[in-house]
Amino acid sequence: MSELAYPYEAPASQALFDRAAAVTPGGVNSPVRAFRAVGGTPRFMVSGTGPYLTDADGREYVDLVCSWGPMILGHAHPEVIAAVQEAVARGTSFGTPAEGEVALAEAMVERVAPLEEVRLVSSGTEATMSAIRLARGFTQRTKVIKFAGCYHGHVDSLLAAAGSGVATFALPDTPGVTGAQASDTIVLPYNDLDAVQAAFAAHPGEIACVITEASPGNMGVVPPLPGFNQGLKDACAANGALFVSDEVMTGFRTSRAGWYGVEGVVPDLMTFGKVMGGGFPAAAFGGRADVMAHLAPAGPVYQAGTLSGNPVATAAGLAQLRLLDDAAYATVDAVSAQIQGLVTEALAKEGVAHTVQTASNMFSVFFTDRPVNDYEGAKAQESFRFTAFFHSLLAHGVYLPPSSFESWFVSTAHDERAVQRIADALPAAARAAAEATA
Ligand SMILES: *Cc1c(COP(=O)(O)O)cnc(C)c1O
Repeated sequence: MSELAYPYEAPASQALFDRAAAVTPGGVNSPVRAFRAVGGTPRFMVSGTGPYLTDADGREYVDLVCSWGPMILGHAHPEVIAAVQEAVARGTSFGTPAEGEVALAEAMVERVAPLEEVRLVSSGTEATMSAIRLARGFTQRTKVIKFAGCYHGHVDSLLAAAGSGVATFALPDTPGVTGAQASDTIVLPYNDLDAVQAAFAAHPGEIACVITEASPGNMGVVPPLPGFNQGLKDACAANGALFVSDEVMTGFRTSRAGWYGVEGVVPDLMTFGKVMGGGFPAAAFGGRADVMAHLAPAGPVYQAGTLSGNPVATAAGLAQLRLLDDAAYATVDAVSAQIQGLVTEALAKEGVAHTVQTASNMFSVFFTDRPVNDYEGAKAQESFRFTAFFHSLLAHGVYLPPSSFESWFVSTAHDERAVQRIADALPAAARAAAEATA
């Protein structure tokens, strides 16, 4: 890597990264944090306030990651912090039921019409894993359809061939996932209803569920084409399978009722995480009451968790949901549109081929002039331009997701000053993208 690619050194972050690498594989606790896709030193953050993060070297960044979605009110929102402090003073975990988890479940059920009942868990991975188990238990079938480029956490069966664009039985994508787990997963190209029909025809009576990101954000933002989610729902209904909509990323972000609130397609099961936890480990799955009734202790499908419905996490999530009124979403949508416009303007000025794709206030920039409708399309972009763009913005105090296959996230805290910092940083970043070579 040339010196030019990393115009600023980050000695304090580098020292922490060296320490981390001695005790943690790759120096991080979640792979994409390691900057492997873009190179350079991952920034170790020491604090966050509103739209800003401050790193160990004392540099402040406008944050366009927002913890990968959860921090929709910005960092350290005073009312969320107050709710957490109040809860934590009363004890951090009881191992019994408590009112906070009921209140959070009620708030979710009230906002999302298809959500008749929910079960709280601690991560999005746990939510999708449990939803798949429940779908299999309910239908007494084994196979699951997922889409290439959709991420549902690191559930064994859902990691299978996440990169495959072919309608075929998946091979294990990662060592440690067995052939049996992978062979129960059918991976299809996103936005391809014909492939879904063909898979149902090829496996009559075997498919337990179709799981999809409600609007994918884990291959960059690739929204469903009109009719795609309804087509999935109809195909499931016609074939006795369940339609599982993964709203871990979109839930309570893309609208008050998540992507369901945007599109109105009614799933059988849904999964949530990120925003509903207010920056704490809280997630959930839920949906049709007759399906959820199969879950222990009401029914035979086992599912449990020592820290499920944790009182501090539920207090944070509830405080955040209560603050997310129509005005809050209007603010997030508006600032998102404003930043999209600035990015397009800067890249167009330098003649950089790009496509900005959106799912309400979620958006990402693909370095290609072709619309991206699936994982193959996402992979066809010029990612080397993103690398140059990323490092230039980082050097000018703007923190993007360190990969061209991720959504950008904004919050209600992204004010004029934060947007101005982005506007000031963009011309140089666009130039860097234009000059980048593969
Ligand atoms: C983040 C994410 C997950 C996994 O959630 P974790 O809390 O990281 O386990 C699952 N599905 C989608 C759509 C996600 O964006």
